[in-house]
Amino acid sequence: MKLYLASNNEHKRREFEELLPEYEIILPKDEGYEFNPVEDGKSFIENALIKAEELYRIIGKPCIADDSGLCVDAFGGKPGIHTARYGEEGGGKLTDKEKYTLLLKNMEGLENRKARFVCTMVLIVDEHNKYVVEKSVEGRIVREAEGEGGFGYDPVFYNEEAMAVSANLTVEEKNTYSHRAKAANAIKKILEMEKETIWKEMNRK
Ligand code: IMP
Repeated sequence: MKLYLASNNEHKRREFEELLPEYEIILPKDEGYEFNPVEDGKSFIENALIKAEELYRIIGKPCIADDSGLCVDAFGGKPGIHTARYGEEGGGKLTDKEKYTLLLKNMEGLENRKARFVCTMVLIVDEHNKYVVEKSVEGRIVREAEGEGGFGYDPVFYNEEAMAVSANLTVEEKNTYSHRAKAANAIKKILEMEKETIWKEMNRK
């Protein structure tokens, strides 16, 4: 079964193919659609909804969108929805390593290291059936990066439930303990429940 994903990003496609292996994940660009939503929401939910609604407006078929990021208590929940662009406010581009190194530097001397990863997913089945799921995992920002696995801020995030730094988790552990895996597992149940309608909508001319 096909499912449209509100993204232009191949990495995100692969992520969703792993999370939802029974679905063929289609990006708008695969079918020649321009997809440039203005992500000016104030929360993960608002931004995921903006992306899903925009794709549904263009394609009119079942689609999914996500938004995620890291919220640090000592910074009042920032970088939050701006996590992907942390440190790039001046216009430059930073690597993942430069971003988490900057976060460690900005947190130097801070005792409150509490943080959480949040993942929101929105599924639009049709105009009468829309679902929003948000899952977060608690943790803290360690004082020194460690581990080789994962991506983004994984080397500096200690996942309380997994009792390990995210970059030290195996792929299977990450698929159990990550915010994204938890959101995807909830979405999977909804997809199963809506299977027939999704099939009908996908095949509607
Ligand atoms: P996106 O919304 O999935 O693109 O995520 C926004 C940003 O949050 C990414 O660019 C990553 O830097 C960070 N992020 C999201 N999820 C994770 C994760 O599981 N590990 C590490 N960093 C993450």
